Amino acid sequence: MTPSGKLPRVVILGCGFGGLFAAKSLDGAPVEVTVVDRTNHHLFQPLLYQVATAGLSAPAVAAPIRNILASQSNATVICGDVQRIDMARRAVVLDGDDEIAYDQLIVATGATNSYFGHNEWEQHAPSLKTLDDAYEIRRRVLLAFEHAERETDLAKRAAWLTFVVIGAGATGVELAGAFAEIARHTLRGEFRRFDPRNARIVLVEGSDRVLPTYPASLSEQARLQLESLGVTVWLGRQVTGIDERGVQMGGDTLVAHTVVWAAGVAASPLGASLEVPRDRAGRVIVGEDLSIPGHPEVTVIGDLATLPWHQPPVPGIAPAAKQMGSYAAHKILQQLKGQSVAPFCYKDYGMLATIGRNSAVAVLGKVKLSGYPAWLLWLIAHIWYLIGFRNRIIVMIDWAWAYWTFERSSRIVTGERRRP
Ligand SMILES: Cc1cc2nc3c(=O)[nH]c(=O)nc-3n(C[C@H](O)[C@H](O)[C@H](O)COP(=O)(O)OP(=O)(O)OC[C@H]3O[C@@H](n4cnc5c(N)ncnc54)[C@H](O)[C@@H]3O)c2cc1C
Repeated sequence: MTPSGKLPRVVILGCGFGGLFAAKSLDGAPVEVTVVDRTNHHLFQPLLYQVATAGLSAPAVAAPIRNILASQSNATVICGDVQRIDMARRAVVLDGDDEIAYDQLIVATGATNSYFGHNEWEQHAPSLKTLDDAYEIRRRVLLAFEHAERETDLAKRAAWLTFVVIGAGATGVELAGAFAEIARHTLRGEFRRFDPRNARIVLVEGSDRVLPTYPASLSEQARLQLESLGVTVWLGRQVTGIDERGVQMGGDTLVAHTVVWAAGVAASPLGASLEVPRDRAGRVIVGEDLSIPGHPEVTVIGDLATLPWHQPPVPGIAPAAKQMGSYAAHKILQQLKGQSVAPFCYKDYGMLATIGRNSAVAVLGKVKLSGYPAWLLWLIAHIWYLIGFRNRIIVMIDWAWAYWTFERSSRIVTGERRRP
């Protein structure tokens, strides 16, 4: 209880992996929980590329936050865009200037995409973070093939049939592999004026290997698997410009009408309103209990937080955000009992990245896997960790169907047709 005799108010900003796990860990606790998110859904980002590549529909990878927390009677869900945090008044300001007061605040608004100071590239090269982004990428990719069928000029048709993914981290690798499968398998036999198998998928990476955060041997395995799927991998290439013609790398231009950006991440801009030190990516530097300097009542978790004191470094991935969410809830409950907590300690369960059908890489402690065993592990892990029983069933059915038929279940696109 607070001195006024009311239950402590815990406000959680963002209901991604960190925010959701914090909220669920407070189920049944003597606190009033308010969860605020600008969208009405929790999104399973690891499978978002499947929506962007027509493999899954949105309800398979997202679930209404209100529905997930329906049975948690101490939790209220507010759909709103947080504009700033007023720490002096212990209040959160939403769009429309509504305010929510807190006793304890958990900030879990994640990350956004960074174009390294070139925001003008975004219109030509969308990136993947939200469901809207996934729809836009899917629309551009599928309509590029439609344009190619109408185009009679061979050079112009080639520009429609060239797909460039910039950035060979896990998302870039997944997208490039899936684009190759669409061209080689899904669309096979559906066009009369060209063969979709001749589409060119180019994965451009600035460093000297794909999946740079993986061990070098797995990066090499991943590159070979990508090439066997039909992806052209360009390493050590710095992108210097992106416009309606395509991608510039120094003096060279790769002519392409469909470009996807998977190269940079920056922290949620909300971190700036905390007015505490941040790193170069805008992530908030947190202490050993994930709070910020001078404000033990404010805890920052997930992709928005950086933990420079933690060795080895904590990666910006879903398991880290979940663990931080559970820790934040535990810390608050311990503090209410007047007890202290041990510093946050990240448990590393490994990393997985898929490349395509039967192709993936995985690191599990000292064990490194690639190819079919890694892909099977990836499949099981992603179905297991999906939120909601219904979603697991939908995904299993869609994947089983796609595995045997090579079809993709979500190819209907709407919206304006894009012209070069
Ligand atoms: C395409 C993609 C693929 C990925 N693949 C993997 C993978 O395979 N494995 C893995 O472990 N990790 C993966 N990740 C990373 C993983 O998803 C993140 O590390 C994780 O989601 C971070 O959790 P979080 O809670 O910090 O932020 P998020 O999960 O991003 O949640 C942030 C939430 O805050 C909300 N929000 C943001 N700003 C505001 C605001 N101002 N007001 C209100 N609400 C706001 C957002 O709507 C969102 O719901 C992937 C990420 C992406 C983008």
